[in-house]
Amino acid sequence: MIGRRQLLAGGAGLCLAGLGLASARSRAEEASFPVTFSDAEWRARLSGDQYAVLRQEATERPFSSPLNGQKRRGTYSCAGCDAQLYSSNAKYDSGTGWPSFYEALDGAVGTKTDYKLVVPRTEVHCATCGGHLGHIFDDGPPPTGKRHCINGVAMNFAAGARMG
Ligand SMILES: [Zn+2]
Repeated sequence: MIGRRQLLAGGAGLCLAGLGLASARSRAEEASFPVTFSDAEWRARLSGDQYAVLRQEATERPFSSPLNGQKRRGTYSCAGCDAQLYSSNAKYDSGTGWPSFYEALDGAVGTKTDYKLVVPRTEVHCATCGGHLGHIFDDGPPPTGKRHCINGVAMNFAAGARMG
């Protein structure tokens, strides 16, 4: 009996820890990225659509981004801070209406669990400024099997070889 009670108590503790993490998340994020701006500064730097996606985790309409059909070789960078995020090498046509990649550049993105919908999703953001990019799903192509479903408005594309 004692063993079971300890187990239950342990489980409840984990749940509470999880809740605490979720509510503290936005504050922690703002402080923990190399590039940070105040909310007013972000509003001034970004277009309305960029701000809604990068800073408020909005999702652009499918098939609305010109980057969706972009097939040239090049690099996709964060519209918030210019950090390089994805290579055209990893881009593929997922048919979803959003630019899709099977992997990010090394260390370029971070993830967290997003509980906005009934089914938890993996949120993906710029590791440099914390700007929201999209979500990662498990129905991507080889070699990773991942689908990084990215809002085109959150990125800029530069054709040519990757810099740096
Ligand atoms: Zn960024």
